[in-house]
Amino acid sequence: MPAPSSPSPLRARARLLSRLPSRPGFYFFLTGLLMVLGFVLAHRLSERSGREQLSALSTERLELYASNLAAELGRHASLPSLLAIDPTLQALMLAPDSAERRHAASQMLARVNVRAGTNQIFVADGQGQVLSASETLTPPARLAEALVQDRRHFFAADPNTGSTDFYLLHPLRQGGRTAGVIVVRFNLAPLEATWIDLGLRSQGERILVADDQDVVIMSSVQAWKYAVLDHADPSRRKALQASARYPQSIGPDLELPASLEVHQGQQVQLPLPGARPMLAQQRQIVPLGLRLVALSDLTEVKQRAQIAAWGGAAFGASVGLAALYLASRRRALRQLTKAQTELQQAHGQLEQLVDSRTAELRQTNDALKSQIAQRLQTEGELLQASKLAVLGQMSAGLSHEVNQPLTALRALARNSIRLLESGRNDAVAANLQIMDDMVERMSQITRQLKNFARKADEQAVGSTALLDCVRNALLLLEHRSRTLNLQTEVDVPAGLRVRAEANRLEQVLVNLFGNAIDAMQRESERRLRVQVVAEDAGRRALVRVQDSGAGLSEADLQRLFEPFFTTKPAGEGLGLGLVISAKIVHEFGGRLRAERLEQGMSFEFDLAVETWAATPESEDV
Ligand code: ADP
Repeated sequence: MPAPSSPSPLRARARLLSRLPSRPGFYFFLTGLLMVLGFVLAHRLSERSGREQLSALSTERLELYASNLAAELGRHASLPSLLAIDPTLQALMLAPDSAERRHAASQMLARVNVRAGTNQIFVADGQGQVLSASETLTPPARLAEALVQDRRHFFAADPNTGSTDFYLLHPLRQGGRTAGVIVVRFNLAPLEATWIDLGLRSQGERILVADDQDVVIMSSVQAWKYAVLDHADPSRRKALQASARYPQSIGPDLELPASLEVHQGQQVQLPLPGARPMLAQQRQIVPLGLRLVALSDLTEVKQRAQIAAWGGAAFGASVGLAALYLASRRRALRQLTKAQTELQQAHGQLEQLVDSRTAELRQTNDALKSQIAQRLQTEGELLQASKLAVLGQMSAGLSHEVNQPLTALRALARNSIRLLESGRNDAVAANLQIMDDMVERMSQITRQLKNFARKADEQAVGSTALLDCVRNALLLLEHRSRTLNLQTEVDVPAGLRVRAEANRLEQVLVNLFGNAIDAMQRESERRLRVQVVAEDAGRRALVRVQDSGAGLSEADLQRLFEPFFTTKPAGEGLGLGLVISAKIVHEFGGRLRAERLEQGMSFEFDLAVETWAATPESEDV
């Protein structure tokens, strides 16, 4: 049995993706959110790690400062105890009032003071009165207090220089009781100077030492000296001032928290103008009752956190924008696929349509072809029928035309015989001349008939003299025009040659002239006008045939070129002449059209010009 199909991870991912919203607004919101998150997170992380680093560094420094201070203080720690066993001092203690012993002790102390590099060494009695000293001096105010408290050391400020001095004390015993004290004084200014120097160099690092009263006694910042670490109310301030421990007045409150840790620094803001946020750490120097406080400037950490925050925001924005890009790409792909499908459908429909239209067109084409074949056959038949009709008409005219000269010839012949008999040869000669002219005329007519009867030759379309054709056509109809006393006006340039076949052009003209004569039969004024007008800058010639006949009604004009349309009585018109004429003109590349005139009709057709005569000459017949 096949295992039940589980959705592939790829498909599951695709489904998850497709469930994501595709509106750009959502992604802009997401981008904003990610920016804010990135900003806050990066700021926090950077600030935390910056503070941790700074705190670690500061702890190290704090240790260094503490050991510096301890080393500085420890350098002279054993000096008082060593001096205590010195025989000179022992002797002094036996007779403290002896000026000699005091002097000897002073000299010894002065030597030791110079060698040990201390500031002063002196011996005082139990009440703090100086017995002997390395130099003339006034004991510090705190000495009495230190003696009462039996202290081994204390800090005191030098009222003259303002520097902080450290005093080491050691009791001098005599007979089991304390007879005096050795005091070694040394100055911490050089150490403080190195701190100031360090603070100046590192910029961000501040160090201070506070005594058991929480008053700053040493600092890398001079302005903070004798400031109160935490907060001093007026009474405490007054008490501190009165204690005379400090060479100058008590400085400002630094407002540092009492519970400062060594390792975990605490952010503080000193209440001083222009103070920056600081990281404060402290270390107790228990044996001396001192507090060593390091303050590190947090500005750089904060600046770095700011930069990191903007970096985080940029990262958030990039993620959001990447999501937007992916979503819009997905949407574009979806639209593309949709458009492709629609295009394919449209293409399929179009192909179907084209197929069906092609089939329809093929059918129509086939139908047209068969219609054309039928039409060609019909036209061929019509052409022949028309020719027969024209021939029939002409044969009537022809018999009339030939009969007349024949009758005249017979009369002339008989007359000539009689004239010969009477010996009138001149008159006979004149008769013979007339007879010759008549025979020539008859032969001309038969020659035209032969031309007309000849089957049209497709290849014969060539350069044809238009005026000749007009003349020949008029000649064929001469007997009718003469009978009706027709006024004919031909305005055709003698040198004009057109592209046509003479025979068939004559057929067209005979037809047009014949119709015109028919139409003018019952009119009083019978005028036939044949005219040529140049068209298309002389490239084409417009042949115009106008009559003053009865004309046609507008309705009849519309049907003029319909086969078998005729207004003539039965037996006279077939209604084919114009149809055939139009077809012939069409074969020559022209078009036959009709127009009603105020009196009569105008027919015109255009032909391609082969040559024009240099000077067109018109001729009246
Ligand atoms: P048919 O002359 O045998 O009637 P056509 O095709 O030559 O055939 O002419 C068709 C009809 O057009 C004629 O019967 C006549 O009524 C009309 N028609 C042709 N030419 C003219 C014209 N010049 N004036 C008036 N009617 C005309």
